[in-house]
Amino acid sequence: MSDSMEVAVIGGGVMGLSTAWELARRGLKPVVFDRFARGHHQGASHGATRNFNNAYDEEHYLDLLVRAREGWNALGQVDGEPLLRLHGLVTHGDVDVAVIERRLIDRGIHAETLTAGEASSRWSGMRFGDDVLFSRDAGVARASAALGELERRIVAAGGEVRWETPVAHRGDRRGRRHHAVRRADAGRRRRRHGRRLDRADAARHPPASAGGHRGVPRALPPQRGRRVAVVQSLRRPRPPPGDGLRHADARRGRQGRLPPRGRRRRPRCPSARGHARGALADYVREWMPGLDPASAVPVSCTYTSTDDSAFVLDRRGRIVVGAGFSGHGFKFAPGVGATLADLALDPTALAAAPFRLS
Ligand SMILES: Cc1cc2nc3c(=O)[nH]c(=O)nc-3n(C[C@H](O)[C@H](O)[C@H](O)COP(=O)(O)OP(=O)(O)OC[C@H]3O[C@@H](n4cnc5c(N)ncnc54)[C@H](O)[C@@H]3O)c2cc1C
Repeated sequence: MSDSMEVAVIGGGVMGLSTAWELARRGLKPVVFDRFARGHHQGASHGATRNFNNAYDEEHYLDLLVRAREGWNALGQVDGEPLLRLHGLVTHGDVDVAVIERRLIDRGIHAETLTAGEASSRWSGMRFGDDVLFSRDAGVARASAALGELERRIVAAGGEVRWETPVAHRGDRRGRRHHAVRRADAGRRRRRHGRRLDRADAARHPPASAGGHRGVPRALPPQRGRRVAVVQSLRRPRPPPGDGLRHADARRGRQGRLPPRGRRRRPRCPSARGHARGALADYVREWMPGLDPASAVPVSCTYTSTDDSAFVLDRRGRIVVGAGFSGHGFKFAPGVGATLADLALDPTALAAAPFRLS
């Protein structure tokens, strides 16, 4: 048995769903395949929130951020609330605050520099050693609400999202115009054919140079009477807030390739050793006295990174690849989806040079 589709998107994380939504906006009826059930925790996109941090100084990321912002705005409100909670974000640490401020202002994005003293008096639960960048135009993205809304819009436009449908084979079965996508649990006769194929998956199929990375963020409740802003501290950890505040040292955690077909699932238990926990607690004690490090709850997560941490947005033949979004991809998702849709629909389209495979 075989049936046809216009575009197959492999991977129903935020990048696959964003790509499919963008394709649907352009009049196509994409079919998304994901190996696990809706809401699963086996990838990188689960959870309540992600940091919507705009403190980038590289033009290609800022371009992607601006494009993403258009998409977030177009997605509108869910349950009476925007998908982006723009309550502001502070950035401090080993970073050139002045450069980022200039780049953001050049693009019409709010940014201002505060002295350490000014910042400390505004956010008493945090300590600052030097200048601090504050942007009102940042905060958090409501991650699980965004996934639900993307799927709703894909289906409303006539597309499909097929959960618990692992793809085991992608191949060019009909010359250059068709690719076969085979479900892992189906025989040869259960192929679906597509004219184009987008791949926006993560840990199970890392790109050639990528490895799976498992980090260990921890959730910390604020202590009474202290105010803690959403913070992006580039001294060490990157803390996306979720239930409580999350702290993570993105350089820690296990690295390596994950099994291609996922017979072994990643362990659910966090792997942080004592010294990593201690370092994180020391960091919180020193820089975020408004949090209680003793109450930290470790959680594990998996994401893929390239060697230089740059995203991969490219095309090989008729296959479009989006991968390597590491620990900071979520905020860019609608921009990534728009770029991958361009690559799928326009053979002359190219992503920004740093995002290309070579
Ligand atoms: C704990 C954590 C905190 C983070 N914090 C932030 C943050 O604060 N801000 C930010 O911007 N970003 C953050 N990120 C990064 C961001 O969440 C990721 O970059 C993003 O979710 C990646 O999305 P994805 O769709 O590429 O990957 P995934 O969500 O992993 O999706 C890939 C999907 O592909 C499916 N799949 C794989 N193989 C197959 C197959 N053979 N057949 C069918 N389906 C398949 C998987 O089941 C999976 O659902 C964080 C990530 C983690 C894990």
